[in-house]
Amino acid sequence: MALALDVRLPSPVVELHDERLGEVRVLLKRDDLVHPVVSGNKWRKLKYVLDDSEIAGATTLLTFGGAYSNHVRALAAAGLSLGLRTIGVIRGQERPFNDVLAGAVADGMHLHYVDRTTYRRRRDAALHDELRAAYGDFHLVPEGGTSVLALRGCAEIVAEIERPFDMIVCPVGTGGTLAGLATGLAGGQSAIGISTLKGAVSLDSDVDRLISADVGTSLRNWRIDSRFHHGGFARRSRELDAFLDDFDVRHDLRPDPVYVGKMLFGLFAMISAGEVPPGAVVVALVTGPVAESGSRSSRHSPDLIV
Ligand SMILES: *Cc1c(COP(=O)(O)O)cnc(C)c1O
Repeated sequence: MALALDVRLPSPVVELHDERLGEVRVLLKRDDLVHPVVSGNKWRKLKYVLDDSEIAGATTLLTFGGAYSNHVRALAAAGLSLGLRTIGVIRGQERPFNDVLAGAVADGMHLHYVDRTTYRRRRDAALHDELRAAYGDFHLVPEGGTSVLALRGCAEIVAEIERPFDMIVCPVGTGGTLAGLATGLAGGQSAIGISTLKGAVSLDSDVDRLISADVGTSLRNWRIDSRFHHGGFARRSRELDAFLDDFDVRHDLRPDPVYVGKMLFGLFAMISAGEVPPGAVVVALVTGPVAESGSRSSRHSPDLIV
């Protein structure tokens, strides 16, 4: 693997002690600790997407993302480590310029801003041709780093967990991480994805398509729960904020409200509703940045984590 980033693997697995869990045991898989800049699941996804054989001959990587995209930030860092030029096609305006984009630029990424209509054409070959006319040839990395190759890196998360477990829970954006986890599970284990988006009707079929493309068949060991989006992507509710404040007080950890916070909120809600059988061991995948209380750096500021 050519991605010469300084990563910490395997990521730690730690039990969460919280009386609200009753007879359910929850283990946190701390993928947020894999790398300080390339947030956990983005590194997992890029590992094989940027494998030597995949990018052979490429001099430039191009990808798509929103202005707060952890994936865009991760690709810039990966490109720097691989010695490749990177271009980020960003939905929206140049202002406000935020720390995610500033970090990407510091790692040498060129940002190309497009309006929403153009961004919707991100899978369209005609748009790719226009971009090739402007920038020369590039290796295209899809939005969120999600492709069949991303699944393999996420399946490795499961392989790293030595303690027996029944269920693994993760936040869902594009569904690539969930799909990868599902392909890595043993018989009797299941994966639940907590959707961070509202009304994303194609998510189930997206995940099914990725899994089928990878393992050649559909799997029935996963599902997506869409009850915990709190108004939609990057939206938050008072209830979610209260949960996160309380979680911080109890555990000295402040999960981001966009992904990990919604996942933990959903998991706790399912447990208190009796939807998780007593005695079950559940792994909660911490896919990205969590601030340790008292050491909240700007990198961890919640508005940066989308
Ligand atoms: C991108 C991201 C996700 C969503 O992953 P998908 O594979 O797109 O579903 C979840 N958590 C964090 C921290 C992320 O940055």
